[in-house]
Amino acid sequence: MKELVPTPPPIIRNQFESVRELFSKYVVPSYGRFELALSHGAGSRLFDVHGKRYLDLGGGIAVCALGHAHPAITEALVEQSRKLVHVSNLYYQEPQGRLAQALVQHLGPGKMFFSNSGGEANEGLFKVARKFGHDEGRFEIITTVNSFHGRTLAGISATGQEKVKKGFEPMTPGFRHVPYNDLAAMREAVSPATVAIMIEGIQGEGGVTPATPEYLLGLRALCDEKKLLLLMDSVQCGHFRSGRFQSFQRILEGVSGAEDFLPDGVSMAKSLGGGFPMGAFWVRAPYADLLGAGTHGTTYGGSPLACAVGLKVLEVIEREKLADNARNTGEFLKQGLAQLATKHPNIIRTVRGLGFMLGVELAPNIPALTVEGKTPAALLVARLQEAGVLVIPAGTNVLRLLPALNLSRTEAQEGLHIIESVIAKLAA
Ligand SMILES: *Cc1c(COP(=O)(O)O)cnc(C)c1O
Repeated sequence: MKELVPTPPPIIRNQFESVRELFSKYVVPSYGRFELALSHGAGSRLFDVHGKRYLDLGGGIAVCALGHAHPAITEALVEQSRKLVHVSNLYYQEPQGRLAQALVQHLGPGKMFFSNSGGEANEGLFKVARKFGHDEGRFEIITTVNSFHGRTLAGISATGQEKVKKGFEPMTPGFRHVPYNDLAAMREAVSPATVAIMIEGIQGEGGVTPATPEYLLGLRALCDEKKLLLLMDSVQCGHFRSGRFQSFQRILEGVSGAEDFLPDGVSMAKSLGGGFPMGAFWVRAPYADLLGAGTHGTTYGGSPLACAVGLKVLEVIEREKLADNARNTGEFLKQGLAQLATKHPNIIRTVRGLGFMLGVELAPNIPALTVEGKTPAALLVARLQEAGVLVIPAGTNVLRLLPALNLSRTEAQEGLHIIESVIAKLAA
């Protein structure tokens, strides 16, 4: 085949500096990036442009559910793109319908809307809530302190962290924040204008804090009493990461009175496409038709290509029992980290989380991690990277582990060894 566009000249020996230069010249500097340019990967292995190998325990921030370059994803992409990449949402197509069916079957009676990201999925839920309360003049959505709901204007308004709002005021009206896991504060905050409550089942960016069972059940009862929608942002903690499809299912396991628990809306993204960008939200049956024809939409959402990949990710997770792996190998990792915390209380204060969503909170005032202008979490992440393992910072003093759902026990063990050696050096 004749090439229409000439191939750009290769970057000389693909060195880190040349790649970074492209970014500093041509990419908006809105991200604080680590000193690392990645080239390729396989499973939980990643290689930088120099060929150095890393164990990836960050999973692209909970996105790469099947690890990197999974052959099933490649196959789904190739097969579907031979048939149909995109048709507009003016038409029907089978992959979107089938993925919607599969997700509804995992959650409960309701319907799906497909978006392209987590932020957009939350925007959709905010619109569901506004529509729900519109005729009664209710519009206010209460969220929690230290939550994270995306970087759109409504997303930063909903997010309970000042740092994401700063410089972008005025905020979208109608959002307020109350402390997480504090039912009394939530009850207190409900006003005649309130229409919905949104929480994460496990706060992610805020430092990996799971909701308590009492909180979830209490919020459900409060919402029923006050006719509010209970919305769960499951963008990070969902899709089997906790060991169950949804983190609330895991948190409420075996809790009496929780058998029929369901929120009214759930947003999803990250692991949903295993790295192919997609998001979605589920709305519980009584509200599933609130967004009628013409009220909401997106050009790309739920494309045949995205949905074929989403279906494949689900299929592999089920076939290989990856929810169980997230639960068991996650517990193994958590135990190992907890032992490290016991051994080095001056470095690690506590370990939190469920399944493959783990947070390691650092102790205050670690001399080796005290550098002007850098957070202890970022400094430790950089040291771990140097030692060959990638993890994600959350806030100033928490490390997050969000590995691929198919991380093996051997890999988890290897990760623990590397983390241990870095922590031991810090403690020395
Ligand atoms: C990542 C994340 C989002 C935003 O998703 P994007 O795809 O980046 O828009 C929203 N909520 C939570 C809990 C997240 O972790």
